[in-house]
Amino acid sequence: MPAGSAERLFRRIDALRDDLVDLTRDLIRFPTVNPPGEGYRECAEYLGRRLAASGFAVDYPRALGAPGDSDRYPRVNVVARRDGGRPGRTVHFNGHIDVVEAGHGWTVDPFAGVVRDGRVYGRGACDMKGGIAASVIAAEAILAESPDFAGAIEVSGTCDEESGGFGGVGWLARNGWFDRSKVDHVIIPEPLDVDRVCLGHRGVWWAEIEMKGRIGHGSMPFLGINAIRGMAAFLSLVEGELLPDLARRQTRMPCEPPGARSATLNYNSIHGGLAEPRDETLPAPVVADSCRLVIDRRYLVEEDFAAVKGEILALLDRVKAGTPGLDYRLDEIMTFQPTMTEPDAPVVKALDHYIHRVLGKPSRHIASPGTYDQKHITRHGSVIDCVAYGPGILDLAHQPDEYVVIDDMIASAKIMAAAALTLAGGASS
Ligand SMILES: [Zn+2]
Repeated sequence: MPAGSAERLFRRIDALRDDLVDLTRDLIRFPTVNPPGEGYRECAEYLGRRLAASGFAVDYPRALGAPGDSDRYPRVNVVARRDGGRPGRTVHFNGHIDVVEAGHGWTVDPFAGVVRDGRVYGRGACDMKGGIAASVIAAEAILAESPDFAGAIEVSGTCDEESGGFGGVGWLARNGWFDRSKVDHVIIPEPLDVDRVCLGHRGVWWAEIEMKGRIGHGSMPFLGINAIRGMAAFLSLVEGELLPDLARRQTRMPCEPPGARSATLNYNSIHGGLAEPRDETLPAPVVADSCRLVIDRRYLVEEDFAAVKGEILALLDRVKAGTPGLDYRLDEIMTFQPTMTEPDAPVVKALDHYIHRVLGKPSRHIASPGTYDQKHITRHGSVIDCVAYGPGILDLAHQPDEYVVIDDMIASAKIMAAAALTLAGGASS
């Protein structure tokens, strides 16, 4: 893009500062808390009305049948599209409208959109209504400065990212909204710091393991099969063999914090034996015939998912073989595959270029330790040129007194607008 057009775009965004702040405050005032998924329709329609007034064609796809979708809590998404005056490529800005509950420890009203000291405060200010507002302003600035732009711009506000995205981007991706024939580049303005481009995230596998023994009298444990001992045997294999092995597996993904650059396994919960009585009565003397464990395995782009499962099953089989009569069950709860966009992909190069230009320092590439909606776009949709980039400060997400810095929103809006205009026109910087 010629230098003069970028400067005009940047001046336009500077002039929209008050509008950007008002939009952020308005979005925060919708208490779109998930769960249960409060106020999605109202928030989606607010965004839709705004974008329609700017010349976008607006759809409200509802994720019927998605987890949590009901007439009381409908999973209403908004997708807006504006075609430019010439053929080109489609750039899509996607933000989730849901927020986690406010929790305790706030010194301001979490849903008032308080402005103080150059910041907007509120639940979702950082994660990620500030990012949505910055992307809307970026899109509107493009239309105002280059109404004849090549390609198309899409903006979506989607549900349920905080609970896996099945009622939002997951549903849209499975229903063709992120097909490569329609969308070329996706920017998700999640809060990962204004000078960092997030290339992707590790994979997740959650599973529940139950050791199954045989009940017996507590005074004669040798006549039963204790499932807790079976689980202990499994955990000792995990501790002694698997965890050291996982720690040695390092990824080329630039995960932050660096501890997340190896494969990890967490024990989410464990329950064994009969439930303890809650009243004055004493527990019964029995051999525990059941012990359940939920594991959270985070795996790397370099790892094969079948092998990730296989190494757990192999340890369980060894425990089972060592204790006649002991058995186990493994139920898979949730799986998300890892995803990583290459550092030289067009969307990364375009953002890198304008981060350097606007902020005066080189951009940094990171990958996220946890997942976000990119997995749906690249794995169930077919758009591979996708990253997260936005104004929020990563460490503030989900905290009390969450805020977004207004200067960061302005900077990221400039960076997103210039990168999008460049990408839509087909160039990489
Ligand atoms: Zn988020």
